Amino acid sequence: MRVDLRSDTVTHPTPAMRQAMANAEVGDDVFGEDPTVNRLQERVAEMLGHEAALFTPTGTMANEIAIKVWTQPMDAILVDEESHILHYELAGPAVLSGVQMDTYPIPHGRIDPEAIRRRIRIADDHTPGTRLLCIENTHNRCGGTILPPEQMPVLRQIADSHGLRIHLDGARLFNASVALGVSPQVWTRYADSVMVAFSKGLCCPIGSALVGSRAFIQEAHRVRKLFGGGMRQVGVLAAACLVALDTMIDRLAEDHRRARRLAEAIAEMRGFRVDLETVQTNMVYVETVAPAPEVERRLAEHGVLCLALDPHRLRLVTHHDVDDAGIEHAIRAFRAVSDALGVH
Ligand SMILES: *Cc1c(COP(=O)(O)O)cnc(C)c1O
Repeated sequence: MRVDLRSDTVTHPTPAMRQAMANAEVGDDVFGEDPTVNRLQERVAEMLGHEAALFTPTGTMANEIAIKVWTQPMDAILVDEESHILHYELAGPAVLSGVQMDTYPIPHGRIDPEAIRRRIRIADDHTPGTRLLCIENTHNRCGGTILPPEQMPVLRQIADSHGLRIHLDGARLFNASVALGVSPQVWTRYADSVMVAFSKGLCCPIGSALVGSRAFIQEAHRVRKLFGGGMRQVGVLAAACLVALDTMIDRLAEDHRRARRLAEAIAEMRGFRVDLETVQTNMVYVETVAPAPEVERRLAEHGVLCLALDPHRLRLVTHHDVDDAGIEHAIRAFRAVSDALGVH
């Protein structure tokens, strides 16, 4: 049995998506003439409570477009110490927008708004001025943790009092809204721009969207072209995203239940530690006494794939293509590795 827990990006498009892709009505999207893309953009903008949306090939491109639109070279942006933008986008803000990334701490996935306030820079002859505050929800490197909605008005107030925009990296925003049983708008209405991804737990082969005001999206459309992301009859991909919005959001609750089961079982085993408080959605981070790459290799011998992201930390992600039997198989594999390593 093979159980792939490396990421929710390994999910395959469902038969309903394949069908919708085959039948999609299309046009040239660079001219704004793809009806399926237009439908998707309107739908996402409405769901997230903003005026307009833009379909992008990747979440990374959407994040980098937002940063480019909101800044000028020599500005600074604030990202958290563990953010996707800082760790996994190849210094994109420096390369593509000519801005400096400043960081704020996020211990155990929690934001301290005062720590953000202290790091805002006022521009002068020597200092880049902070223009943009980036936040991430759910938080990938912090374990799929949820940004408490009650922090949003506080962050908005800080941003407004210093002339900052807020960009929300919501690659897994729907995981947060399903986990808390609230509308995604409890976060998005406080942000100036938001990225959501269809290619993670929602199972689409490709695609993210950026939302914001009409003026913001108009500029984002130009920057997408600059970054090489202007696409043509791309309704074939947007069609899958529309199916995802109809059918794949509510079921994220199953991924969360399975992550919980996995986390609680592994937390009991020798040689592993799991901070159960951070297991809030579809991710489980396991601290390993043995080197994580060694544990990763041994699990792979049992057909269980995960990622050693740090020297003593593994990441497991539950998703549509792992069922209850897969989770039980993964638990047995962890038990076997725990016994084999014989650590206390
Ligand atoms: C995956 C991810 C992205 C980027 O998405 P891609 O489509 O892989 O470029 C951005 N932010 C977070 C938090 C992510 O998990």
